[in-house]
Amino acid sequence: MAGAATLEAHKKLEGKLPKRNGLRAASEFLEWLCDITGEDIGSEALAETPRRVVESWIERTGGYQKDPSEILRVTFPAHCDEMVTLRDITFFSTCEHHLLPFSGRASVAYLPGCDGRVVGISKLARLVDCFARRLQLQERMTAQIADALVEHLGPAGVGVVVEASHLCMVCRGVMKSGATMRTTALRGVLRDSDAARAEFLSGAGFECGGTR
Ligand SMILES: [Zn+2]
Repeated sequence: MAGAATLEAHKKLEGKLPKRNGLRAASEFLEWLCDITGEDIGSEALAETPRRVVESWIERTGGYQKDPSEILRVTFPAHCDEMVTLRDITFFSTCEHHLLPFSGRASVAYLPGCDGRVVGISKLARLVDCFARRLQLQERMTAQIADALVEHLGPAGVGVVVEASHLCMVCRGVMKSGATMRTTALRGVLRDSDAARAEFLSGAGFECGGTR
């Protein structure tokens, strides 16, 4: 059984949650796991587990609290008419089908619009996290990153490549480790021009039609 201090900590945490039944749900889930595994629900080792589960889910879904328009709000006049690429942005996300993590790297590039304005480079990494820290499909996440840049930065072109491994393919189902999935979203000039697309894929570390 959880002690008084544990219950007090749980009550405090419940107050911070947008929906107040998170800890109850996590406790019930743990109870079910104990039912099917025979683990002791009253063991000291598991007393804090519901709280940890809730805290980790709040962190893993923190992207819902972020606003892409706010992340890309501040831009700088750079008179830049060349491609800007941030490559190998690490991320962690959660597959919406199995609630298991998928993780990997994203490369994001844009060709500034006719105003030549650019955004702080760290904002591209924040944008990736904004969409990664949600319940996701890798394909949708890749498109969302590209579309947010188109909508809020007004560039001439955008390219996003995401390469990730999915734990739901490793620890269950077909059980294949080492396989990675690559998804690409191209917008504007990067979609329409072979040269711009090749420059992007090469800058992002992916040669045209080849592998890393
Ligand atoms: Zn999955």
